[in-house]
Amino acid sequence: MNSRIATLDAMEILDSRGTPTLRVCIELDDHRRSTASVPSGASTGAHEAHELRDGDPTRYGGKGVLRAAASVTGAIAPNLVGLDPTRQREIDRLLIELDGTENKSRLGANAILGVSMAVARAGAMAAGMPLYRFLGAQPNRLPVPMMNVINGGSHADNSLDFQEFMLVPHGAPTFAEAMRYGVEIFQALKTLLGKSGHVTSVGDEGGFAPKLRDNAEACDLILEAIDATGLSPGKQVAIALDPAASAFRTADKYALWKSGGGKTTTAELIDLYSEWIERYPIVSLEDGLAEDDWNGFRALTAKVGGKVQIVGDDLYVTNPKFIRRGIAEGATNAVLIKLNQIGTVTETIEAIELCRSAGWQYVISHRSGETEDAFIADFAVAMNSSQIKTGSVCRSERIAKYNRLLEIERELAGTARFENPFKTR
Ligand code: PGA
Ligand code: ZN
Repeated sequence: MNSRIATLDAMEILDSRGTPTLRVCIELDDHRRSTASVPSGASTGAHEAHELRDGDPTRYGGKGVLRAAASVTGAIAPNLVGLDPTRQREIDRLLIELDGTENKSRLGANAILGVSMAVARAGAMAAGMPLYRFLGAQPNRLPVPMMNVINGGSHADNSLDFQEFMLVPHGAPTFAEAMRYGVEIFQALKTLLGKSGHVTSVGDEGGFAPKLRDNAEACDLILEAIDATGLSPGKQVAIALDPAASAFRTADKYALWKSGGGKTTTAELIDLYSEWIERYPIVSLEDGLAEDDWNGFRALTAKVGGKVQIVGDDLYVTNPKFIRRGIAEGATNAVLIKLNQIGTVTETIEAIELCRSAGWQYVISHRSGETEDAFIADFAVAMNSSQIKTGSVCRSERIAKYNRLLEIERELAGTARFENPFKTR
């Protein structure tokens, strides 16, 4: 018989921005313990599951999570004690029922996800397997990392409207080599920025946060940095963008206020992206438009979706309901997957299964507020995800995921491959 859940506990910890978040701990009846820590976004989608915060202005500016911790120890724990932790689906269903709301606002999606992730870890422990094997029957690939080396938008106090400029070492032979490519380019970028008098301090996801002339200069600098390493842009390393356009959406336009670029229409923004796709080795464009601009997304995908991956993040918030609509309408051709947008491991897997059924790519992603928990590294491999987005190549909350993937690559030597998922352009 499998081990059973003996106790469930939760505590308030701090994330990479120094904001409170939740850590859940499960003890099994054989005294083994699993823990999981919950990430938190800044540029959150309007339809994300509800992150429960205390709202008590005398603690952490209202951002404490003691109420979410109380959900775990109060409402949830008595219902989970005695259950077999390998029964993830049933436990996640039970959590959803206990909450009873559409967006997990009663118990808090942070409380529910913390428990769901800790259950997954406890289940893996009880089954005597690494997490990546427990959650995925046949892990056979290592994801291509998307490394966010220049930060803007709501992740940095600079002149860039677009939130993320990422390196994609898709032409590397192995995951470890992909990391080396990324790190060497990151270091070259630092040198370049220093030489041109820019600051080399970093934003929330560990990418540089310089005050550049405009958004395009970030792409130019990345290209220059790739060249400086002797790697081949487009062939070995490409660029991915996440403008996170919901953040600069106005009533009917987009306002490039950080760069002083003025207001643009959806059509003008689509033209700008098309131009960039010709000019730069871009393979992926996430949230190029805002979460309410479904017509715009359809037009963007119709125009450039044959050349590049068009990813929906805020548009879908990892919610099968919105992904289904996106598939029916051809709004994108890929989905960003964030566990805390939907709130349980099981629902996240359902979202991924929908992507698979449509032949869409899915990218497992961190949040801008992270912890040292490397759950998504195992999760990406379990889901045979072709890509993972987990920040720049500095700051330990990002590196923890990369280091875990380096470990997994060694463990799966000979059975898992590193493969380029992008169309060669
Ligand atoms: P967030 O940013 O975690 O602040 O939402 C990440 C993203 O937009 O992909
Ligand atoms: Zn995004």
